[in-house]
Amino acid sequence: MWQYELNKLIAKRPWLFGKWLKPRLIFYPSFFPAYYPMTILHFIFVGKGMKDCPDYVRRYVLAHEYGHIYRLHNLPSYFHYLLLIGVIVGLVSDVNLLAAISFLALIIPAVFLYLKPLKKEFEADDFSVDENEIDVTIDGQQWMTEKTHSQDHPERIARMSRLLKYKDRQN
Ligand SMILES: [Zn+2]
Repeated sequence: MWQYELNKLIAKRPWLFGKWLKPRLIFYPSFFPAYYPMTILHFIFVGKGMKDCPDYVRRYVLAHEYGHIYRLHNLPSYFHYLLLIGVIVGLVSDVNLLAAISFLALIIPAVFLYLKPLKKEFEADDFSVDENEIDVTIDGQQWMTEKTHSQDHPERIARMSRLLKYKDRQN
């Protein structure tokens, strides 16, 4: 169900490199935290606690996580891994200059990856608002908030109040 619904999202709104890098869904092994979905490169990782979650939660989480991919938030990660390969190849084949330059350059994608985290979350939530109804996004986020006990987390509060304001304006 998860991958099927993800495929529908991809077909409707393909991301820039979707032709070559098809987003995939991966369930964490059971020893990982159950409720922390995240996206690395074009892979969406979902905890095992999510397997039987309500439909609206699944729709929210999928749209939010795919939203990160669609809005290219993970693009720096590809450069990050390429440079890591550069470091390893440089070290193994004794090309110190390649290893040194790759190592120093690692800072660049790292900075971009951690730039404006809240703005990225807003954009991913907006993707869910576009693809689902506003209520699915609000209720889905509320469910996640309860499961992760993040009611007092400033980022959660900012995201939720933004969604509620959006709903107010719609009514
Ligand atoms: Zn997110």
